[in-house]
Amino acid sequence: MTRVAVVTGGTRGIGYAISIALKKKGCRVAANYGGNDEAAQKFQAETGIPVFKFDVGDYEACAAGLKRIEAEVGPVDIVVNNAGITRDAMLHKMSPQQWREVISVNLDSMFNMSQPILEGMRSRNWGRIINISSINGQKGQMGQGNYSAAKAGVIGFTKALAQENARKGVTVNCIAPGYIDTEMVAAVPKNVLDSIIAQIPVGRLGTAAEIAACVTFLASDDAGFITGSTLTANGGQYIAS
Ligand code: NDP
Repeated sequence: MTRVAVVTGGTRGIGYAISIALKKKGCRVAANYGGNDEAAQKFQAETGIPVFKFDVGDYEACAAGLKRIEAEVGPVDIVVNNAGITRDAMLHKMSPQQWREVISVNLDSMFNMSQPILEGMRSRNWGRIINISSINGQKGQMGQGNYSAAKAGVIGFTKALAQENARKGVTVNCIAPGYIDTEMVAAVPKNVLDSIIAQIPVGRLGTAAEIAACVTFLASDDAGFITGSTLTANGGQYIAS
């Protein structure tokens, strides 16, 4: 059966890898993005996957974007809530805007992209919601009070939503990546990055393809008994219970 998958932030970084991995598994994929038209056009030309521009932090925009996707691609079976941003600062120096933007894109998006499609998934008795959290939501990270709060919130949200929808064939899980070799991590100063890699037992950064493989597994029928879980993929850097 061809399933329809929406990947937020699906045109760059980890999302790019997730979009193409789901397509390879036979899904019809719709990739959302926020503002980088050039990257989105390049992605669409390279992959043939249609792109949909809207802000995942804005409920009305998500509801409208999902309607467009349902009309153009089909009823949504799989949502991967991947879009995320950082606005790092120590809390005593953090602006309300830095706080709000990160909570909006990383956490409000969970509600905005799940609420409009849940009735449909429940009525069809099948659905997969996969949320991308972070190692820093599990352990906390200095300079990332906003991001750590949002990503920890993603884990709590996942657990609650899993309980609400289990009987309707809708599983809800999250993945907590460690440090992955993407533009987000490339922005970290080299000396800081070297000290991070030194703390990763496997001795390297993860790859976007490795996170995409976690997503395709959780999106598959084989993962139907897994719900409410957090799949930690961090090279052993933080071993969460
Ligand atoms: P990137 O910065 O490479 O890509 C982010 C993607 O999210 C882009 O497609 C971007 O769109 C999109 N996006 C940003 N803001 C919005 C918005 N308001 N509405 C819609 N789309 C938006 O990020 P990564 O691939 O590195 O990260 C992906 C996810 O993985 C994030 O949730 C991140 O927190 C998480 N993560 C990443 C880790 C890492 O090491 N990279 C580690 C742990 C977690 P556009 O191109 O238009 O800007």
